[in-house]
Amino acid sequence: MAMVETVRGPVDVAALGTTLMHEHVFVLNEEVRQNYPAGWDEDDRVDDAISKLNALAARGCQTIADPTVLGLGRDIGRIKRVAAGTELNIIVATGLYTYNEVPLYFKFRGAGAADSAGPGLDPMAKMFIGDITTGIADTGVKAAFLKCAIDDQGMTPGVERVLRAVARAHAETGAPVTVHTHPHSGTGRDVLRVLREEGTDLTKVVLGHSGDSTDLDYLSELADAGCLLGMDRFGLDLITPFEDRVGTVAALCERGYAESMVLSHDASCYIDWFPPEVIPMFAPAWHFGHLFDDVLPALAERGVTDSQLDAMLVANPRRYFSGI
Ligand SMILES: [Zn+2]
Repeated sequence: MAMVETVRGPVDVAALGTTLMHEHVFVLNEEVRQNYPAGWDEDDRVDDAISKLNALAARGCQTIADPTVLGLGRDIGRIKRVAAGTELNIIVATGLYTYNEVPLYFKFRGAGAADSAGPGLDPMAKMFIGDITTGIADTGVKAAFLKCAIDDQGMTPGVERVLRAVARAHAETGAPVTVHTHPHSGTGRDVLRVLREEGTDLTKVVLGHSGDSTDLDYLSELADAGCLLGMDRFGLDLITPFEDRVGTVAALCERGYAESMVLSHDASCYIDWFPPEVIPMFAPAWHFGHLFDDVLPALAERGVTDSQLDAMLVANPRRYFSGI
């Protein structure tokens, strides 16, 4: 029996059920929040998150994977409070989110290892491994996957250092990997190059935000390498319109790639990147209900079968989290 760590403890992967592979509970700048707390009510925000996640659970979702790591305001104590109020399984991550440089904290630690093609274990990787094997700080919660990012700035030295640290923590622990990519600049290919050098098991890698792309050749190439494609920004129609997102998933299913995709919104219960009142204006469908209300029916209309939906929502996540 394969088990996966969640905020409330280990769960049999067979019991994960319908799993959204990229949803955030909170995305915050913690330093801003602590110094400028006006407008933040901890209890209200926790209660709001619980009610949003319970509404998601009521739609049939049983698990979310929350890739909120350093750089996005990870606070596992707060997530534990939320998890205590919902049946939904929350799987948390370790890693570091940057599009360019590493935080100064890391810059002057492990400078040798920062020549990251070297054989040493980056102190950053040791921290990730600790989060997976012994738990995050004193919370008793273990991370079950690794997360990093590359965006339109490409494979900068900082981005490469984090990616290699993630790959080495994966090699050490078996924990799977999710990478925020920028498909419009083809960064999925850059990720694969480095991960291949690191000997990473590519079947344990989600190339996040692949669904921003409609380039079937690019997407097939990444899937053929063994990766899972994160079709994970449903609702962010400003980046890629609904019809394109749905049409791309349907076209890939038709080409036999249902085993190579996972579905999600990349939405948050609360994100401080935007004034809250602005989100409904620029992304009215960017919420946890969109997949169930709009996306799944649209995929079915375009010929995606129940067993293909089951692969993307249940079987592929289960496989990804098996064998840690
Ligand atoms: Zn995200």
